[in-house]
Amino acid sequence: MLLGFDARPVLAQARGLKIARTTETRSTCPYCSVSCGVIIHTLGDKAKNVTTQVVHVEGDPDHPINRGTLCPKGASLYNEILNDRRLLKPVVRRPGSDHWEDISWDQALTEIARHIKKTRDDTFIETDADGHTVNRCETIAFNGGCTDTNELNYLVVKTMRSLGVCYLENQARV
Ligand code: SF4
Repeated sequence: MLLGFDARPVLAQARGLKIARTTETRSTCPYCSVSCGVIIHTLGDKAKNVTTQVVHVEGDPDHPINRGTLCPKGASLYNEILNDRRLLKPVVRRPGSDHWEDISWDQALTEIARHIKKTRDDTFIETDADGHTVNRCETIAFNGGCTDTNELNYLVVKTMRSLGVCYLENQARV
């Protein structure tokens, strides 16, 4: 209430206009395994030569987990989507180096495969101290993300278990 005028209806209408012509897409916050529901608002009619633009992200009031609420990380999703510092290609920091350098996808995958093989070959444990067969690799760990699909996580579990990896976390709802 200001000077006898109640500005709330006007302000409420102004807030509504921001998403008045947007397309709503329901999604899941990628930051943690709570998996809160979000609504992503995009502008653009998807016609030829039109690039849709995210203009707002908010909690999904119909989602049973969060009922429209988001923690500070989830509330910053808009800034993650439109962040020009977001990495779009692999980078590597070599041992002893103080900086990151660009690397091609092919080179990155080849180097990762080589490191995994060498580490596993050097440290694989076939039997424990009591002579029990364990076939495990304790020197490699895998950490995934909660936006990975069930299908990807299925393959991750199969791959890591086949390597003998015990330390496996993929935030999966599987
Ligand atoms: S909004 Fe917060 S609590 Fe919810 S999934 Fe995202 S990071 Fe987790």
